[in-house]
Amino acid sequence: MSNETTAGERAERPASIIGPPDARLQLPRFAGPATFARLPRLDEVDHADIALLGIPFDTGTTYRPGARFGPESIRAGSKLLRPFHIGLDVEPWTELQVADAGDVGVTPFDIAEAIGEIETAARSLYDKADSIIALGGDHTIALPLLRAAHAHHGPIALIHFDAHFDTWDNVFGAQLTHSTPFRRASEEGLLALGHCAHIGIRNSLPAASDFEDDRRLGFATVTTLDIARRGIDEAVERVRERVAGLPVYISVDIDVLDPAHAPATGTPEPGGLTTRELQLLLHGLAGLPIVGADVVEVSPAYDHAQLTALAAAGVIFDLLALFAKRQ
Ligand code: MN
Ligand code: MN
Repeated sequence: MSNETTAGERAERPASIIGPPDARLQLPRFAGPATFARLPRLDEVDHADIALLGIPFDTGTTYRPGARFGPESIRAGSKLLRPFHIGLDVEPWTELQVADAGDVGVTPFDIAEAIGEIETAARSLYDKADSIIALGGDHTIALPLLRAAHAHHGPIALIHFDAHFDTWDNVFGAQLTHSTPFRRASEEGLLALGHCAHIGIRNSLPAASDFEDDRRLGFATVTTLDIARRGIDEAVERVRERVAGLPVYISVDIDVLDPAHAPATGTPEPGGLTTRELQLLLHGLAGLPIVGADVVEVSPAYDHAQLTALAAAGVIFDLLALFAKRQ
Protein backbone atom coordinates (compact mmCIF):
# COMPACT_ATOMS: atom_id res chain seq x y z
CA MET A 1 0.00 0.00 0.00
CA SER A 2 1.30 3.44 -0.88
CA ASN A 3 2.07 6.00 1.83
CA GLU A 4 1.62 8.87 -0.60
CA THR A 5 -1.13 11.35 0.07
CA THR A 6 -2.87 13.74 -2.27
CA ALA A 7 -3.97 17.31 -1.59
CA GLY A 8 -6.69 17.45 1.03
CA GLU A 9 -5.81 14.02 2.38
CA ARG A 10 -3.24 13.78 5.16
CA ALA A 11 -1.26 10.89 6.50
CA GLU A 12 -2.47 9.22 9.69
CA ARG A 13 -0.16 9.65 12.63
CA PRO A 14 1.94 6.48 12.91
CA ALA A 15 0.85 4.37 15.90
CA SER A 16 4.31 4.74 17.43
CA ILE A 17 4.01 8.54 17.70
CA ILE A 18 2.20 10.00 20.70
CA GLY A 19 0.63 13.42 20.14
CA PRO A 20 -1.54 15.76 22.20
CA PRO A 21 -5.10 14.81 23.21
CA ASP A 22 -7.69 15.57 20.51
CA ALA A 23 -9.21 18.95 21.38
CA ARG A 24 -12.47 18.19 19.53
CA LEU A 25 -13.10 14.72 20.93
CA GLN A 26 -11.11 14.15 24.11
CA LEU A 27 -10.07 17.20 26.07
CA PRO A 28 -10.70 20.91 25.39
CA ARG A 29 -7.67 23.15 24.89
CA PHE A 30 -8.00 24.89 28.25
CA ALA A 31 -7.70 21.56 30.09
CA GLY A 32 -5.07 18.88 30.25
CA PRO A 33 -1.34 18.62 30.82
CA ALA A 34 0.77 21.76 31.24
CA THR A 35 3.36 20.49 28.75
CA PHE A 36 4.07 22.44 25.54
CA ALA A 37 0.95 22.13 23.32
CA ARG A 38 -0.18 19.35 25.73
CA LEU A 39 2.35 17.02 24.09
CA PRO A 40 3.61 13.98 26.03
CA ARG A 41 6.40 14.29 28.55
CA LEU A 42 9.74 12.88 27.44
CA ASP A 43 9.45 10.06 30.02
CA GLU A 44 6.19 8.98 28.32
CA VAL A 45 7.88 8.16 25.00
CA ASP A 46 10.67 5.74 24.05
CA HIS A 47 12.55 8.27 21.98
CA ALA A 48 11.86 11.78 20.72
CA ASP A 49 12.83 13.39 17.44
CA ILE A 50 12.54 16.75 19.20
CA ALA A 51 12.71 17.45 22.94
CA LEU A 52 11.38 20.78 24.19
CA LEU A 53 13.50 21.85 27.14
CA GLY A 54 12.57 24.66 29.54
CA ILE A 55 15.49 26.66 30.93
CA PRO A 56 14.19 29.01 33.65
CA PHE A 57 17.28 31.18 34.00
CA ASP A 58 17.62 34.98 33.88
CA THR A 59 20.68 35.84 35.96
CA GLY A 60 22.48 37.00 32.80
CA THR A 61 20.07 39.86 32.04
CA THR A 62 21.35 43.44 31.85
CA TYR A 63 18.03 45.33 32.07
CA ARG A 64 14.61 43.96 33.08
CA PRO A 65 14.78 40.50 34.73
CA GLY A 66 11.98 37.91 34.67
CA ALA A 67 12.75 35.52 31.80
CA ARG A 68 13.10 32.72 34.38
CA PHE A 69 9.30 32.58 34.09
CA GLY A 70 9.50 32.30 30.30
CA PRO A 71 9.13 28.51 29.95
CA GLU A 72 5.87 28.26 31.92
CA SER A 73 4.51 31.31 30.07
CA ILE A 74 5.36 29.88 26.62
CA ARG A 75 3.80 26.54 27.56
CA ALA A 76 0.62 28.34 28.67
CA GLY A 77 0.61 30.23 25.37
CA SER A 78 0.94 26.99 23.38
CA LYS A 79 -2.42 25.47 24.29
CA LEU A 80 -4.13 26.91 21.22
CA LEU A 81 -1.71 25.39 18.72
CA ARG A 82 -3.43 22.99 16.34
CA PRO A 83 -1.78 20.14 14.44
CA PHE A 84 -1.65 21.54 10.88
CA HIS A 85 0.88 24.28 9.97
CA ILE A 86 -0.69 26.32 7.17
CA GLY A 87 2.45 28.16 6.03
CA LEU A 88 4.60 25.06 5.56
CA ASP A 89 1.86 22.49 4.79
CA VAL A 90 2.94 20.03 7.44
CA GLU A 91 1.76 18.45 10.71
CA PRO A 92 4.87 18.64 12.90
CA TRP A 93 3.73 16.28 15.63
CA THR A 94 2.24 13.78 13.19
CA GLU A 95 5.57 13.48 11.39
CA LEU A 96 7.87 13.82 14.39
CA GLN A 97 7.76 12.53 17.94
CA VAL A 98 7.87 15.76 19.91
CA ALA A 99 8.00 15.60 23.71
CA ASP A 100 8.37 18.02 26.60
CA ALA A 101 11.49 17.35 28.66
CA GLY A 102 10.44 19.67 31.49
CA ASP A 103 12.75 22.28 33.00
CA VAL A 104 16.45 22.15 33.81
CA GLY A 105 17.18 22.54 37.52
CA VAL A 106 19.43 25.56 37.22
CA THR A 107 20.96 27.73 39.95
CA PRO A 108 19.92 31.40 39.92
CA PHE A 109 23.03 32.43 41.90
CA ASP A 110 26.07 31.63 39.75
CA ILE A 111 26.10 32.13 35.97
CA ALA A 112 29.11 29.91 35.22
CA GLU A 113 27.67 27.11 37.33
CA ALA A 114 24.28 27.53 35.64
CA ILE A 115 25.88 27.31 32.19
CA GLY A 116 27.55 24.06 33.26
CA GLU A 117 24.22 22.67 34.48
CA ILE A 118 22.50 23.57 31.22
CA GLU A 119 25.28 22.03 29.12
CA THR A 120 25.15 18.80 31.17
CA ALA A 121 21.36 18.63 30.85
CA ALA A 122 21.45 19.28 27.10
CA ARG A 123 24.20 16.71 26.48
CA SER A 124 22.38 14.01 28.45
CA LEU A 125 19.14 14.82 26.65
CA TYR A 126 20.73 13.70 23.39
CA ASP A 127 20.51 10.11 24.72
CA LYS A 128 16.73 10.30 24.43
CA ALA A 129 16.18 12.90 21.72
CA ASP A 130 17.72 13.72 18.36
CA SER A 131 17.37 17.50 18.68
CA ILE A 132 16.48 20.13 21.27
CA ILE A 133 14.33 23.24 21.08
CA ALA A 134 14.92 25.27 24.23
CA LEU A 135 12.38 27.55 25.91
CA GLY A 136 14.28 30.34 27.69
CA GLY A 137 15.34 31.88 29.83
CA ASP A 138 17.60 34.76 28.91
CA HIS A 139 20.00 34.58 25.97
CA THR A 140 22.92 33.37 28.11
CA ILE A 141 21.50 29.86 27.67
CA ALA A 142 22.42 29.78 23.98
CA LEU A 143 26.11 29.24 24.85
CA PRO A 144 25.74 25.85 26.60
CA LEU A 145 23.12 24.78 24.03
CA LEU A 146 25.53 25.57 21.20
CA ARG A 147 28.26 23.62 23.00
CA ALA A 148 25.98 20.58 23.13
CA ALA A 149 24.90 21.00 19.50
CA HIS A 150 28.52 21.44 18.38
CA ALA A 151 29.50 18.19 20.13
CA HIS A 152 27.07 16.35 17.83
CA HIS A 153 27.25 18.33 14.62
CA GLY A 154 30.55 20.24 14.51
CA PRO A 155 30.72 23.96 13.63
CA ILE A 156 27.27 25.52 13.47
CA ALA A 157 25.82 28.12 11.09
CA LEU A 158 23.90 30.32 13.51
CA ILE A 159 20.80 32.19 12.34
CA HIS A 160 20.16 34.69 15.10
CA PHE A 161 16.92 36.70 15.30
CA ASP A 162 17.40 39.57 17.75
CA ALA A 163 17.29 43.35 18.13
CA HIS A 164 20.82 43.02 19.56
CA PHE A 165 24.09 41.44 18.42
CA ASP A 166 24.80 39.63 21.72
CA THR A 167 28.43 39.54 20.65
CA TRP A 168 29.87 42.01 23.18
CA ASP A 169 33.05 40.96 24.93
CA ASN A 170 31.83 41.76 28.45
CA VAL A 171 29.40 43.77 30.56
CA PHE A 172 30.85 45.24 33.79
CA GLY A 173 33.75 42.85 33.23
CA ALA A 174 31.44 39.80 33.22
CA GLN A 175 32.06 37.55 30.24
CA LEU A 176 29.01 35.30 30.68
CA THR A 177 25.84 37.37 30.21
CA HIS A 178 22.90 37.56 27.84
CA SER A 179 24.83 40.14 25.79
CA THR A 180 27.88 37.93 25.18
CA PRO A 181 26.91 34.32 24.28
CA PHE A 182 27.87 34.51 20.61
CA ARG A 183 31.26 36.15 21.30
CA ARG A 184 32.08 33.24 23.61
CA ALA A 185 30.66 30.72 21.11
CA SER A 186 32.83 32.09 18.32
CA GLU A 187 35.93 32.10 20.57
CA GLU A 188 35.25 28.48 21.49
CA GLY A 189 35.07 27.47 17.83
CA LEU A 190 31.41 26.44 18.05
CA LEU A 191 30.34 28.59 15.08
CA ALA A 192 31.19 28.22 11.39
CA LEU A 193 32.90 31.55 10.83
CA GLY A 194 31.60 33.36 7.78
CA HIS A 195 28.32 31.45 7.81
CA CYS A 196 26.32 33.11 10.59
CA ALA A 197 23.77 35.93 10.43
CA HIS A 198 21.86 38.30 12.67
CA ILE A 199 18.36 39.37 11.64
CA GLY A 200 16.45 42.24 13.25
CA ILE A 201 19.26 44.46 14.55
CA ARG A 202 18.03 48.03 15.10
CA ASN A 203 18.02 51.33 16.97
CA SER A 204 21.18 52.16 18.90
CA LEU A 205 24.60 50.70 19.68
CA PRO A 206 27.35 51.80 22.06
CA ALA A 207 29.53 52.61 19.04
CA ALA A 208 29.64 52.29 15.25
CA SER A 209 32.62 49.95 15.72
CA ASP A 210 30.23 47.30 17.11
CA PHE A 211 29.31 46.52 13.48
CA GLU A 212 32.95 45.96 12.52
CA ASP A 213 33.71 43.94 15.67
CA ASP A 214 30.74 41.73 14.93
CA ARG A 215 31.59 41.28 11.26
CA ARG A 216 35.08 40.10 12.21
CA LEU A 217 33.50 37.29 14.20
CA GLY A 218 31.91 35.98 11.00
CA PHE A 219 28.40 37.42 11.11
CA ALA A 220 26.37 39.12 8.40
CA THR A 221 23.67 41.52 9.57
CA VAL A 222 20.17 42.08 8.22
CA THR A 223 18.70 45.09 10.02
CA THR A 224 14.98 45.75 10.39
CA LEU A 225 15.47 48.73 8.07
CA ASP A 226 17.02 46.42 5.43
CA ILE A 227 13.89 44.26 5.66
CA ALA A 228 11.56 47.27 5.45
CA ARG A 229 13.37 48.66 2.39
CA ARG A 230 14.25 45.50 0.47
CA GLY A 231 11.71 42.98 1.66
CA ILE A 232 11.50 39.59 3.26
CA ASP A 233 12.54 37.55 0.22
CA GLU A 234 15.89 39.29 -0.18
CA ALA A 235 16.63 38.83 3.54
CA VAL A 236 15.79 35.13 3.27
CA GLU A 237 17.97 34.75 0.21
CA ARG A 238 20.95 36.41 1.92
CA VAL A 239 20.64 34.16 4.94
CA ARG A 240 20.17 30.95 2.95
CA GLU A 241 23.27 31.74 0.88
CA ARG A 242 25.17 32.55 4.02
CA VAL A 243 24.60 29.20 5.79
CA ALA A 244 25.65 27.28 2.66
CA GLY A 245 24.24 23.89 3.64
CA LEU A 246 25.98 23.71 7.03
CA PRO A 247 24.16 22.50 10.17
CA VAL A 248 21.87 25.36 11.22
CA TYR A 249 20.97 26.48 14.73
CA ILE A 250 18.17 29.07 14.96
CA SER A 251 18.17 31.31 18.02
CA VAL A 252 15.16 33.59 18.41
CA ASP A 253 15.29 36.41 20.96
CA ILE A 254 11.63 37.41 21.18
CA ASP A 255 12.73 41.07 21.27
CA VAL A 256 13.26 40.75 17.51
CA LEU A 257 9.52 41.46 17.45
CA ASP A 258 8.27 44.98 17.98
CA PRO A 259 7.10 45.66 21.56
CA ALA A 260 3.60 46.05 20.10
CA HIS A 261 3.76 42.35 19.21
CA ALA A 262 5.90 41.11 22.11
CA PRO A 263 5.97 43.57 25.01
CA ALA A 264 7.11 41.02 27.57
CA THR A 265 10.85 41.00 27.18
CA GLY A 266 13.88 42.24 29.06
CA THR A 267 15.38 44.73 26.59
CA PRO A 268 12.54 46.05 24.40
CA GLU A 269 13.36 47.99 21.22
CA PRO A 270 10.77 49.88 19.14
CA GLY A 271 10.83 49.47 15.38
CA GLY A 272 10.87 45.68 15.40
CA LEU A 273 9.37 43.00 13.19
CA THR A 274 5.71 42.15 13.17
CA THR A 275 4.79 38.61 14.16
CA ARG A 276 3.82 37.99 10.54
CA GLU A 277 7.18 39.24 9.21
CA LEU A 278 8.97 36.86 11.57
CA GLN A 279 6.72 34.02 10.37
CA LEU A 280 7.59 34.76 6.74
CA LEU A 281 11.32 34.91 7.51
CA LEU A 282 11.17 31.60 9.37
CA HIS A 283 9.09 29.90 6.68
CA GLY A 284 11.70 31.06 4.17
CA LEU A 285 14.24 28.82 5.92
CA ALA A 286 12.34 25.62 5.07
CA GLY A 287 14.57 22.80 3.85
CA LEU A 288 17.71 23.96 5.67
CA PRO A 289 19.44 21.30 7.82
CA ILE A 290 18.30 22.66 11.18
CA VAL A 291 19.87 20.84 14.16
CA GLY A 292 18.78 22.93 17.16
CA ALA A 293 16.91 26.04 18.22
CA ASP A 294 15.88 28.22 21.12
CA VAL A 295 13.31 30.92 21.85
CA VAL A 296 14.48 33.23 24.61
CA GLU A 297 13.86 36.42 26.59
CA VAL A 298 10.13 36.00 27.23
CA SER A 299 9.60 37.83 30.53
CA PRO A 300 5.90 37.39 31.31
CA ALA A 301 5.57 39.98 34.10
CA TYR A 302 5.48 42.56 31.28
CA ASP A 303 2.97 40.66 29.13
CA HIS A 304 -0.53 41.83 28.26
CA ALA A 305 -3.25 39.44 27.13
CA GLN A 306 -0.58 36.75 26.50
CA LEU A 307 0.65 38.65 23.41
CA THR A 308 4.26 37.59 23.90
CA ALA A 309 3.49 34.08 25.10
CA LEU A 310 1.27 33.40 22.08
CA ALA A 311 3.89 34.82 19.71
CA ALA A 312 6.68 32.76 21.29
CA ALA A 313 4.62 29.56 21.18
CA GLY A 314 3.89 30.27 17.52
CA VAL A 315 7.61 30.68 16.80
CA ILE A 316 8.23 27.26 18.36
CA PHE A 317 5.50 25.80 16.16
CA ASP A 318 7.25 27.36 13.14
CA LEU A 319 10.54 25.82 14.30
CA LEU A 320 8.90 22.40 14.68
CA ALA A 321 7.55 22.72 11.14
CA LEU A 322 11.08 23.59 9.93
CA PHE A 323 12.36 20.41 11.60
CA ALA A 324 9.63 18.44 9.86
CA LYS A 325 10.64 19.96 6.50
CA ARG A 326 14.43 19.80 6.87
CA GLN A 327 16.57 18.00 4.30
MN1 MN B 1 17.78 41.12 22.34
MN1 MN C 1 19.45 38.32 22.76
